[in-house]
Amino acid sequence: MKIEKYSIGIGDRFGHQGAAQLAAFVKMKERGIDIVPVWNKSNREHSLIGTKPFDVRIEADDAVKKLGWKDSYYVDADHIGINTVDLFLDSSNYFTLDVADFIGKEPARDDLEKFTEACRKYVRNLRVPGLKENILITQEMIEAVGKKYLSAVKEAGKIYRHILSRKREGNFITEVSTDESSEPQTPAELFLILAALAQEGVMIQTIATKFTGEFLKGVDYVGDSKQFAKEFEQDVAVISYAVKEFSFPENLKISVHSGSDKFSIYPIINRTIKKFNAGLHLKTAGTTWLEEVIGLAKSGGEGLHIAKDIYVQSYRRFDELTKPYLTVIDIDATKLPAPAAVKGWNSKDFVLVLKHDQSCPQYNNSFRQLVHIGYKIAAEMGERFTTALVASQKEINAGVTENIYQRHLVPLFLNND
Ligand SMILES: [Zn+2]
Repeated sequence: MKIEKYSIGIGDRFGHQGAAQLAAFVKMKERGIDIVPVWNKSNREHSLIGTKPFDVRIEADDAVKKLGWKDSYYVDADHIGINTVDLFLDSSNYFTLDVADFIGKEPARDDLEKFTEACRKYVRNLRVPGLKENILITQEMIEAVGKKYLSAVKEAGKIYRHILSRKREGNFITEVSTDESSEPQTPAELFLILAALAQEGVMIQTIATKFTGEFLKGVDYVGDSKQFAKEFEQDVAVISYAVKEFSFPENLKISVHSGSDKFSIYPIINRTIKKFNAGLHLKTAGTTWLEEVIGLAKSGGEGLHIAKDIYVQSYRRFDELTKPYLTVIDIDATKLPAPAAVKGWNSKDFVLVLKHDQSCPQYNNSFRQLVHIGYKIAAEMGERFTTALVASQKEINAGVTENIYQRHLVPLFLNND
């Protein structure tokens, strides 16, 4: 099983939008660009909503059947560790091994010695095709990377071998994520991390690196996009170099955990993958959920009522809801409209504030982030929420497809800049 050159991770909190999401990929195919969908959902989302990994498998299979999709598709056990992987073994064929908790943990002395010994041959100036500057690797760097990342790599090996023993070779895709590290990896660090993964026998097909700037949930990139462009290009170049150097699968590619809607850096990503003829996996998250809320609000009546309730209750339960997300949101509480004001809004008012349109003066990114993490409120509404979803299906489906297609896939893959 080899993942295709271009793939996009699509999250769907409540599992109703699989076909609407897939329709965006069909539209790209009609324009001559093959991109495969990967339905991703983390254990955190499952436990907050009360869904099971198998629900995502059913959703994906149903969507594919409904639209007659003939290409590949995947179901991603997103950010799993050794304690959660078993829940996903039957339903997933893509595993994102999250070993962030092991970064910075002191490795065993033996392991560190073996790693530094095996990497000794790289102590030099590496000439990486596509990069202007050489990458200097020193003995000190090798030791530092070993100390910082080797425990995480060993843990990835443990999870990988566990999956391998259950699913057997060739039946799954492996990603390792280091995007939740505190600092972006330098090109030398990434090269050495890849060396460590190869030595450990973890045959990854995608790797998520950490970039400069903030990748907050549901809102645009915050940071220095020039620096991002530099790091992204370096990472892509190092990965394609490492494929040859360490005999990883040919299709090994970069994975961007976008948190959704990083519109300002999509043109950079587009240009860079074309320049290097490289592949891309990019995960989106709650952007579909936000389209559901927008669709509900647009449809007025009970739908609008529910959209307002989601906001008002999220506002009241601010501390509880933000707690699991503190590192990936940046909400300015003084910018949040008071519940009493929101109650008086009509459909248009609500949509203008929530919709991710930075040219719109009403758009409020604190409001949007709060609704982004407010899906727990909808989950608690149970049938009231799902009945409304079905009632507003037409409105919502159109928004979901258009959002993935026009605002994500087109700028990422078509020539438009
Ligand atoms: Zn991630």
